[in-house]
Amino acid sequence: MKAFHRVIDIQADLIAGSLTCVELVNHYLTQIQEKAHLNAFLEVWADEALDKARLVDAKIASGSYGKLAGVVIALKDNLSYKGHKVSASSKILEGFEALYTATAVERLEQEDAIFIGRTNCDEFAMGASNENSAFGPVKNPFDESRVPGGSSGGSAVAVAAGMCHCALGSDTGGSIRQPAAFNGVYGLKPTYGRISRWGLLAYASSFDQIGPFAHSLEDIALLTQIMSGADSQDATAIQEGPLDTWTYTEKKNRRFAVMKQAVEHPGLDPEVRDTFNQLLDKLRALGHEINYIDFPLLEQMVPAYYVLTTAEASSNLSRYSGMMYGYRSPNATDLESTYTRSRTEGFGPEVKRRIMLGTFVLSSDQYDAYYEQALKVRRIIQNETDAILDHNEALLMPTTSTPAFKLGEKSKDPISMYLADLFTVQANLAGNPAISIPSGTTQSGLPIGVQLMTSRKSENDLYDLSELIQKLF
Ligand code: GLN
Repeated sequence: MKAFHRVIDIQADLIAGSLTCVELVNHYLTQIQEKAHLNAFLEVWADEALDKARLVDAKIASGSYGKLAGVVIALKDNLSYKGHKVSASSKILEGFEALYTATAVERLEQEDAIFIGRTNCDEFAMGASNENSAFGPVKNPFDESRVPGGSSGGSAVAVAAGMCHCALGSDTGGSIRQPAAFNGVYGLKPTYGRISRWGLLAYASSFDQIGPFAHSLEDIALLTQIMSGADSQDATAIQEGPLDTWTYTEKKNRRFAVMKQAVEHPGLDPEVRDTFNQLLDKLRALGHEINYIDFPLLEQMVPAYYVLTTAEASSNLSRYSGMMYGYRSPNATDLESTYTRSRTEGFGPEVKRRIMLGTFVLSSDQYDAYYEQALKVRRIIQNETDAILDHNEALLMPTTSTPAFKLGEKSKDPISMYLADLFTVQANLAGNPAISIPSGTTQSGLPIGVQLMTSRKSENDLYDLSELIQKLF
């Protein structure tokens, strides 16, 4: 099977008759089987995917088919798809079946996408290594002793290792961009509200966004365009129609901002720094402007992110009480012990840590010192980000400070794990769109990603700037 990088190339072959959707699905099913040890999928919907493939083949033969005909997609295990299991990789939801379909998933389905299965992730999307899954870690296909990143690790690996064409993830603080960088694929976190969150299992509602993983910018733009647009089920979705279809517009003399604190950060891996600096040189040589800016707030971002997201998580996850749905402890004797036993036995350690931290920062004694303070920091970060993007067209930085780290390397030390989000949380704190673009590999063959962020609601400009950058790799 050819390695397809773009939906349009798949569709050209489908229309020419040299390929069928059934062949494509069978190919991916074989790949999933051969690479099962990577643990990227929690469930594979083989029969259903083949049924849909036959249906789409018939539609192609009849000449009337959707924009995603022939596109085989994997869904992160925190997206609801009616009648299918969804567990957020948590024991507390093991066996639970979605009662409705997420708006984003439904919009893809209407365009004839074929869903092949649900992918492993960190429990409730809390993590940066996929080691917090109740169903075991995912392995990085470039080096199986390393993490795939998280929390959408399974989705990134499924795309990188050729087990599906595209995948969906969710990004609260970097969970699409960081695993995309660790696996050499594109990953986008759209503007907050660009894609409805209806049907996404909530972690931190004012941060969460659904987004795609793909092998090309074109496919990132296509999937996002289809999923975008207002939705009566999500009041935080941007009240606008879908994004315009993207076509590349070349512009000269573009202005990129680079944070001094990021390029000079002591934790930045030398190979990541060199790759990044070489990119800056190439951009300058092409006549683009690189403006170094001072951003002392960099060190405040991760703490503000963790205060606010754990606060929201403590509220969002209170619904898993053992009463309405999900796991109920068989060891409970009364109402009170049903709550405590079910939650104690159902949640993993990282989720419990965050619920406790979030409950603490919201408690009446601590609220002013932590939650309110973090809200103020968030506002300052938003204002400063806007100011940078008033004078520059994009903010450019490495997606992560290091390539994929070893399994087990950070899992005993939450603080060092949290610092894996150093460069990615800003886009979620401020609500801006940000993308990770593959930017080569280290000497030892580990992928490196570069991140580009533009102002809110400017995805199509983000793709134009990304096109310019991807050409340099
Ligand atoms: N690694 C970050 C965290 O653990 C980001 C997670 C995410 O984006 N869902 O919170």
